[in-house]
Amino acid sequence: MERRDFIKTGLITTVAPTLLLANIETIKRARNPIVISTWKHGVKANEEAMKVLFSKGSALDAVEAGVKISEADPTIQSVGIGGRPDKDGHVTLDACIMDSQGNAGSVAYLQDIKHPVSVARKVMELTDHVMLVGQGAKSFAITHGFKEENLLTEESRKAWLKWKMKQGKKDELGPNDDHDTISLLAQDSVGNLSGACTTSGLAYKISGRVGDSPIIGAGLYVDNEIGAAGATGRGEEVIKTTGSFLVVELMRQGYTPQDACREALGRIIRRHGGNPGFQVAYIALRKDGEIGAAAIRKGFKYALSSENENKLHSVKGIIN
Ligand code: ASP
Repeated sequence: MERRDFIKTGLITTVAPTLLLANIETIKRARNPIVISTWKHGVKANEEAMKVLFSKGSALDAVEAGVKISEADPTIQSVGIGGRPDKDGHVTLDACIMDSQGNAGSVAYLQDIKHPVSVARKVMELTDHVMLVGQGAKSFAITHGFKEENLLTEESRKAWLKWKMKQGKKDELGPNDDHDTISLLAQDSVGNLSGACTTSGLAYKISGRVGDSPIIGAGLYVDNEIGAAGATGRGEEVIKTTGSFLVVELMRQGYTPQDACREALGRIIRRHGGNPGFQVAYIALRKDGEIGAAAIRKGFKYALSSENENKLHSVKGIIN
């Protein structure tokens, strides 16, 4: 049969979905609680998420409780209170959350509210929208009982002032590469998946800049049939490649979580001539409990918690 005839009979369009379904059905759903998150502060976040899962709580409650630990810690200068400000000295937060039903909520450019992930959850549960930004997100938060507070700690303010003094020499082009967003993925004891991602974004970014972290499909994606993925690093690159959605879709096509993370990074690396001068990393959790983690450059760490352990793991960069 000629290729043209294949197309006419519709064979080409039906073969691929059949293969995909076969993949979905052969992956068994794990039922042991598991949590994976980005960077070293993920260890404490995982611990909290695991408490929820061990008491038979949902993956959704677990991911929110987990990342709230990082948001509330003023010593973590990349998330929540204590986050590094933008160029003008304002701390602006981005976060999102997704549940096992495919529901999603998100906030971006949110100021003066310590727990953007919880505001994102309220957007998901109480509105018909997915994403609220800026003053609208803040008003929504206050209406729903969130307290307004100053998020710029003395330490972050001093670091910002120091950066400003040097500006014009080194960091003239805007945001530097200083980042440590927390993306956290969890599976509960009935096998359901959820994820959350929260950040103050790139340090000293241009005012108004929003990264990948609150963008569903970029900083985070959950498909309860397949798996979940989360990102950290240079958000612009993650957005341009729809990174977390891509990782999940690659798993759907049969890639292991590890290979899916590597291939998604490969697309960024190839776009930058094989040697990008920035970091991006992905974590992935497939519905059978298998995990993956990969980074463009060295230095990335992820925290993994299962029944018997809660450990930080170092990842070798793909290009160094
Ligand atoms: N992905 C975040 C952003 O671009 C930065 C980070 O991972 O810390 O806003």
